[in-house]
Amino acid sequence: MRAPARPLSAAVSRWRDDPFSRGGWSLLRVGGTPATRAALGVPFGRVILAGEASHPDQAGMVHGAFEEGLRAARWCIGQEVRSVIVIGAGAAGIGAARALQDAGIHTVLLEARDRIGGRTWSVNLTPTDHAGNTPCVLELGGNWLQQGARNTLAPIAQAIGCRLVDTDFHDPLQLGSAPAGLDSATTEAVMGRLRGMAERATRERDLPLAGIVDALLASPAPFDRETVQYVVDAEVFLDTGAPLGELSARLGFEAGVGAGDRWIVEGYGAVLRSLLGDIDLRLNTAVAEITWSEHGASVRHATGTLQADAVIVTVPAAVLQDNSPRFVPELPSAQREALELMTVGRVEKAAMVFAKRWWPASSNGYIRIADGPGRISEWLDVSDALGVPAITAIFVGDWAAELWDGQGDAEVAARVADVLWRASGAVAGPSSS
Ligand SMILES: Cc1cc2nc3c(=O)[nH]c(=O)nc-3n(C[C@H](O)[C@H](O)[C@H](O)COP(=O)(O)OP(=O)(O)OC[C@H]3O[C@@H](n4cnc5c(N)ncnc54)[C@H](O)[C@@H]3O)c2cc1C
Repeated sequence: MRAPARPLSAAVSRWRDDPFSRGGWSLLRVGGTPATRAALGVPFGRVILAGEASHPDQAGMVHGAFEEGLRAARWCIGQEVRSVIVIGAGAAGIGAARALQDAGIHTVLLEARDRIGGRTWSVNLTPTDHAGNTPCVLELGGNWLQQGARNTLAPIAQAIGCRLVDTDFHDPLQLGSAPAGLDSATTEAVMGRLRGMAERATRERDLPLAGIVDALLASPAPFDRETVQYVVDAEVFLDTGAPLGELSARLGFEAGVGAGDRWIVEGYGAVLRSLLGDIDLRLNTAVAEITWSEHGASVRHATGTLQADAVIVTVPAAVLQDNSPRFVPELPSAQREALELMTVGRVEKAAMVFAKRWWPASSNGYIRIADGPGRISEWLDVSDALGVPAITAIFVGDWAAELWDGQGDAEVAARVADVLWRASGAVAGPSSS
C-alpha cells in the first residue's frame, strides 16, 4: 500500500489537557438529574453560575450554554445591579454579556485564553498553496447547531448570512469494523431495547449505565453482540467519551445529536463574534479568585482585582471541579453537591485540509469509522460545502488517548489521517494521494 496522504494544513484540539476546559461537555453521574443541573445555576450572594452544565434539558450544547448566559443576565437585570463581571467568553459568557450590555448595565467580559469561543473553536486552515482564496473554516469544538427548530442560535446565524448545512446522523457512511448492513431501523431498535432495560432497572434507584449495557451484551438476541456493541459505541460512547460505568443509566441519554442538526459553513466563531460588538472584552485574563457576598463580588486575576455588583461565572463544570477559580467563601453546598454528580469525557478533534479528496464520498459528509469494541470515531467531510478538500474527525476515550498523548500536533494529525486512510482502503481504496 502506498504511503498515506498527509494534510496540507491541520489543527488538533487538546480539550482534556487544557486547564480551561478539562474535557468535552458535562455528563451526569449516577444519581444526577436535570434538578442537579438546575441546582448548579441557582444564584448565591451576588454570584450566578451559568453554562452548558447548568441547563436542565439542553446541556452539553452550544445553544444550551447561550440560553444559560441569557438566564444569568436576566437574573442580574432583576437584581437591578449597575455593574457585572462575566467570567468566560464562550457561548454562555458572550450571551450574558450581550444581554447585559443591551440592558445598559456596565459589563466587563474576562476570558482566560487569547481567543473567544471556549469549547467552540473555529480555525481557518486555508492552505497557503491553495489556488483559490476560499476561507476554510473548520471546527475543533462544537460543530453542529443541534435540536433543529429548538436551537436559539440558528436564527442568529441565519440573520448574519451564515450558510447552514444539514447532517443526517441516521445515514452515516460506516467504515472499518462496522457490522455489515447495519441500518437506522436496527440502530433504533437496539437503542429502544437499551432505553427500556435502563428504565426498568432504575425504577427504584439509579445505576451505572455500564451494567445495563453489559446485560444487553450478555443476551443480545434478536440482535448479535457485535451489532449491539457497535450501536452502543456509536450512539452512546461517541456522544459522551466517558466510561459508561461513570454515567447515570437513568439520564445517561440526555438530549443531543439527532435529526435536524446543521453545521455552520462560516463557523461558530462568526456567530459568536457577531454578538461581541461593543462589549468590554479582556482576553488573556484568567480569574484566580472570586470573593463574594450578598452585596457584590470582587474578582482577582493575574494583574489586578475588579469589583462589581454581580458576577456571572461561565467556566466549565470540570474546571470548577478543579477548584478554579477559587471561591471565598467556598461554593455553597448545593453547588458543590451538583458538581460532584457531574463528570466529563475525553473528546478530541482534528481538522485537516488535503491537496485532494482521496476518501470515499458519503451522501451528506457524515462518516463513522470503527476499529473494534470501544473504538469509534466520527468524521465530517466538509469538502463540498467549502470547495476545499477538508475533513474533521472526533475521537473519544482510549482511542483518542492513544492517538493524542505524548504526540505533537503534526504527528496527531498524521495518525488521524492514517485511520481514515486505512478505513478508506478497506472499503473502496483511495484513488491516489
Ligand atoms: C469536541 C467537542 C465537540 C462538540 N460538539 C458540539 C456540537 O456539535 N454541537 C453543540 O451544540 N455542542 C457541542 N459541543 C459542546 C459545546 O461546545 C459546549 O457545550 C459549549 O460550547 C459550552 O459553552 P460554555 O459557554 O458553557 O462553556 P465554554 O465554551 O467552555 O466557555 C467557558 C469559557 O470560560 C473560560 N475560562 C475558564 N476558566 C477561566 C478563568 N479562570 N478565568 C477566565 N476565563 C476562564 C474558558 O476559556 C472559556 O472560554 C462540543 C464540545 C466539544 C469539546
